[in-house]
Amino acid sequence: MKREIVLREGIMTDGLVEEMQNYYRPLPKGLDYVKFRQERWREKESIVVYSAEQNGETIGWVVYDPGKSTVEELLVKPDLVQPETAWQLLDELVKQESLVAAETWQEDKAKQSAMIEYGFRPVRHFLQEGFSITKMELSTQAYFRRLKEYKPVKEYSTRERVALEKVPESQEPGEIKAALVGLLDKLGGIKRFVKPGKTVVLKPNIVSEHGLKDGIPKGGIVTDIRLVKALVELLLPLAGKVIIAEGASINRSATTKLFEHYGYPEIVKTAPDKISLVDLNADETVEKPVPGGKRMLARKIPVTLEEADVIISLPVMKIHFAAGVSLAVKNLQGTMPPLEKYMTHFFGLWQNLVNIHHLVKPNLIIIDGLYGQEDFGPISGTPKKMDLLIAGTNPIAVDSIATRVMGLDPLSSPPVLLGYLQGLGPVELDLIDIIGPPLDEVTSKFREPELDISGGESFHVHDGDACRGCRAYLHFVLSKLRRPDPKDPSRLLIDRPFDRKVNLFLGPDTRANINPEEANIFMGMCQQHRADVGIHLPGCPPHTEVIIDGVYRMFPDVEKAKYADKSEEAVLGEMLQQILASLEV
Ligand code: SF4
Repeated sequence: MKREIVLREGIMTDGLVEEMQNYYRPLPKGLDYVKFRQERWREKESIVVYSAEQNGETIGWVVYDPGKSTVEELLVKPDLVQPETAWQLLDELVKQESLVAAETWQEDKAKQSAMIEYGFRPVRHFLQEGFSITKMELSTQAYFRRLKEYKPVKEYSTRERVALEKVPESQEPGEIKAALVGLLDKLGGIKRFVKPGKTVVLKPNIVSEHGLKDGIPKGGIVTDIRLVKALVELLLPLAGKVIIAEGASINRSATTKLFEHYGYPEIVKTAPDKISLVDLNADETVEKPVPGGKRMLARKIPVTLEEADVIISLPVMKIHFAAGVSLAVKNLQGTMPPLEKYMTHFFGLWQNLVNIHHLVKPNLIIIDGLYGQEDFGPISGTPKKMDLLIAGTNPIAVDSIATRVMGLDPLSSPPVLLGYLQGLGPVELDLIDIIGPPLDEVTSKFREPELDISGGESFHVHDGDACRGCRAYLHFVLSKLRRPDPKDPSRLLIDRPFDRKVNLFLGPDTRANINPEEANIFMGMCQQHRADVGIHLPGCPPHTEVIIDGVYRMFPDVEKAKYADKSEEAVLGEMLQQILASLEV
């Protein structure tokens, strides 16, 4: 009977070197490749060698760099060389390391195709001492699909506390402030978080101007300024400085205008020597390494956050059509400078949202549930009055409770799931003390957006089990094609007939057949292994502009749909290309 594979940490042995030589010998310069690898591993202290054992016998090895979360060698014994054994070995590895990358030698086609079948995607090619190396990333959705159960890499041992406080329906400013005091008292009071004279940075969500039109607020889009005001009033007697900081995520040059739009300068006027506004998109930055180096080795962090004594994150209780929810985990995306925001989509939004939490650590999270937003959040949804505030210190625990209050499964949000699996915090109710009204008293189901990614007469969409990231952004772009075709208004643009059938593939499933005679579009990192045989839309999920550009190539006579500021996106796209070129050494 086959037993589970166990990975045991060991050392580089002569036996392993011999196995490598046997494996690579048939390939041209195979033995030189083994020597090259061995020398590199000798220089790197961080390298870990795992031997994989089954039924007491060694069946293979993984050479792993935990600093970059990268598999540098994966070898199974010759009599076991079949992809399934390698996959079982990888299953064990991802169970303990979560999302990983791999480096493979381009000559080793068999391994590359086994890795692709598993869910790895070639993202970059580079030369190292004359050897062509392919960097592969495990697709996040493939990783989720490979897991037999959702269990964190390490058991979470700390109990977390999450406080809930109801706000009277009338939501008068005094009532909001009193509720805020009550909420914070449940966690030990504001003085527990802010010592006298400290610099406190507040990070509200000010995603766009849609939360205030013609002077009339629309709740649930941005953090309610009444809550921010109340918090500032509590902080002023304590803090040395209060900085309200945000970096708008869609049109990135708009942060200052958005501060004005919502009346933030009025808050500053109440104590101009103490309160200031900072556009994080224009702030100076400091580069910090990402622990584990998953997807990106380093991130640039605004100095305002780096120098803060206390950071308070103020997300809104809302649905995010792609991320599931936009709460504590998602709110930190706004802290990143513009190029970093752009790159997170390119290298993998879900993992990079988790990475930010290793580098920017809010001391307190207060979720604004005065109004939530259901349907097509984070901007185009419907306000939902909740009369509730939620607070805590752990982003996963806070999101877990807030998501339950929204009547949803906390693990349905890919970045929350990934953060949970990587040990950022617990979602389990038996690991979280809820202080306040019982959940069933405050829970009210949020309507989720219905994503329509169906194609048209000759425009076919092949969904290979994509996560909601690609599905949501594709929904947005396809919705722009569900209007009368200017060439023939009796039909929809998406139903326009093409000489060559158009196929759009998304998701990690590799089973769909590709007909090279047809026009093929491959979406996202999950489809990156097919980048050379059609139009590839890079990213995870690809940036909306990237999808628009790719899909509208099929409709050259039609004006492209608009999303963000095109010129800003073009500049960031060029900067990213320069960064990628510099990596190809
Ligand atoms: S490429 Fe798309 S489907 Fe694949 S993991 Fe990324 S967002 Fe999800």
